[in-house]
Amino acid sequence: AELSREDVLRLAEENNVKFIRLWFTDILGNLKSFAITVGELEDALDGGMGFDGSSITGYNDIEESDMIAMPDTSTFQLFPWSPRENAVARMFCDVRTPEGDPYVGDPRHVLRRALERANEMGFDNFYVGPELEFFYFKDPYGTELLDYGSYFDHTTLDAATNLRRDTVLALEKLDINVEYSHHEVGNSQHEIDLRYDSALEMADKAMTYKTVVKEIAQRHGVYATFMPKPIQDQNGSGMHTHQSLFSNGKNAFFDPDDQFYLSDVAKAFIAGQLRHAREISIIFAQYVNSYKRLVPGYEAPVYIAWSRRNRSALVRVPLYHPGKEQATRAEIRCPDPAANPYLCFAALLHAGLEGIERGYELPEPMERNLYHLSHDERQRLGIQSLPASLGEAIQEAEDSELLQKCLGEHIFKRLLNLKRDEWEEYRIQVTPFELKKYLPVL
Ligand code: GLN
Ligand code: MG
Ligand code: MG
Ligand code: MG
Repeated sequence: AELSREDVLRLAEENNVKFIRLWFTDILGNLKSFAITVGELEDALDGGMGFDGSSITGYNDIEESDMIAMPDTSTFQLFPWSPRENAVARMFCDVRTPEGDPYVGDPRHVLRRALERANEMGFDNFYVGPELEFFYFKDPYGTELLDYGSYFDHTTLDAATNLRRDTVLALEKLDINVEYSHHEVGNSQHEIDLRYDSALEMADKAMTYKTVVKEIAQRHGVYATFMPKPIQDQNGSGMHTHQSLFSNGKNAFFDPDDQFYLSDVAKAFIAGQLRHAREISIIFAQYVNSYKRLVPGYEAPVYIAWSRRNRSALVRVPLYHPGKEQATRAEIRCPDPAANPYLCFAALLHAGLEGIERGYELPEPMERNLYHLSHDERQRLGIQSLPASLGEAIQEAEDSELLQKCLGEHIFKRLLNLKRDEWEEYRIQVTPFELKKYLPVL
């Protein structure tokens, strides 16, 4: 909903709002929040609220740390769990410099720039529908399960049914439409799918979703996590993302006469994502742990190919409603829910647009289970793999012009430095695996 400054002031008054939380993210996608009282609201709407950017991951150094959080009025929402008296609302903010310019370290700005590029190429909407999976555990200090259910199970096994229902109800109160919610493959693993929306709105929604899932879990005395691979021998948690580009209300991915119902635009877009997947991997799979998910056998992609049926492919063109214009879309399966959604959608979009701009050729679909191809077969077919580790992803990212263009120099440099530190910290660990495997025999 479009809300004006006046709408926000009226809604605040009508709902007895006392506190307004101002939200933005750091470059890793951690939600940052500070509260103002309603007395400050008019000022905040006019000139934004100042804050110290030097302690926000990936933002500025102390020499130039004055930042402004400029509320986006269209994101004004009351928290569903807010009391009626002294109610609490929130708004997402764009981060600005004291001069009023967009701040180059703000992930929301990166996504806005990506959308501008799409606009300039004639696409007025980039729709995304992410499927964010997560686990419920008894507490944050272990992986003690809540249930032993599996995919689509609905029995008393599924102790989390009430939790999920409360979460969906809270999301709907926040105007976030839910399409599906169900038990996932892993024990204690769940999924709630949001109805597709424009990428910027959806990135905000994804941030809210993660907060709501965690908040409701905590209210039930359990812990929800978006960690990509918490349990070694079970499925990890993905954030499959369904994508389409629209121009003038028409789905630019749709061609009724094509054998796959895919337009040339869609094919080049998918080709772009396949070709650039390795260098943007650091965005959609940003943690050491992300690469433990991207291994064969757990419905997560490893090999760079596209397909219609097979869920081992990186990009899948779902067959649910073949030939239906609105439903024609490409599902990219590599992102995980710990990604920064702003940067993730921006990088996916840039990769796809690159394919369109340069007219990349889409290879043949691979309908075979890619997990079962041998190394030699993959070589013969020219099928590449995603980076196997964060270290490899860093190497791929370092030389990427596309990533620099997407992130801008500021975030590009800072993200890589953060990731190098993380990788180094991990690399020097002597793990239980090594002690068990080597100590008794070497
Ligand atoms: N959990 C799987 C992943 O890591 C996906 C499983 C599914 O949605 N079918 O991507
Ligand atoms: Mg799903
Ligand atoms: Mg799923
Ligand atoms: Mg899916």
